[in-house]
Amino acid sequence: MSARLLSPDEPPAFTARNLGGASPLVLLCEHASNRLPRRLGDLGLPSEELRRHIAWDIGAAALAGALSRALDAPLFETGYSRLVIDCNRPLGVSASIPERSEDTAIPGNLALSAEDRRAREEALFHPFQNAVAAHLDARQAAGRPTAIIGVHSFTPIFRGIRRPWEAGVLFDGAKDFAMPLIEGLSASGLAVGENEPYRIEVGDDYTVPVHGDGRGLPALLIEIRQNLLADDAAARHWADRLVSPIRRALAAALPAKEPA
Ligand SMILES: [Zn+2]
Repeated sequence: MSARLLSPDEPPAFTARNLGGASPLVLLCEHASNRLPRRLGDLGLPSEELRRHIAWDIGAAALAGALSRALDAPLFETGYSRLVIDCNRPLGVSASIPERSEDTAIPGNLALSAEDRRAREEALFHPFQNAVAAHLDARQAAGRPTAIIGVHSFTPIFRGIRRPWEAGVLFDGAKDFAMPLIEGLSASGLAVGENEPYRIEVGDDYTVPVHGDGRGLPALLIEIRQNLLADDAAARHWADRLVSPIRRALAAALPAKEPA
């Protein structure tokens, strides 16, 4: 395969929205889409596999968009499926271009050449990460208080076990940002997992360790159970529930000179 993965008429690798937003918060949605580049076909998967969680985070893009509007926050969202290359994983780890996701083999990801991998990195991974990094560089150079939230969704049942949480907050270094958010969400009656249903792994995650902790910026991931984000109205409802706890967590984590 040549280095060019996307044709000129296909959607871009990512979309940046509301870059001039006034909020100290920068939103990322790394698993926003289940789209595949045309030249990869269906990766050898039936369409029902491409509609479920292994391909994308169902409802996450709608939630991230609603949060961006409600908080006046910049948002970067990916345009292609994590099955092509996962923008929340470092390059080279097994989950970056997964040969298997949960219990599903991904035929189109088997036995890739170095050139195949590089084409995905250059077309999809680097454009997204470089745009996020440039935006964060500019904010930091300007001395703007900045925190980062990656918006995700998770499946209600994983390998036969029902997950009890409605929402999860995942963090590593940003305890001062995450704990007020967890407390705020819990106080509103939600079942919130602290570092559930996943944990941040420095060698296996990207947004939190690289864009956040690696720059000294407070960063966390919010995970919402996907059956609670069934349509746009549900996503807006969740954004409404999240806005006040996020504002309080930003105020707790960031310098007082520019309160959220
Ligand atoms: Zn996700």
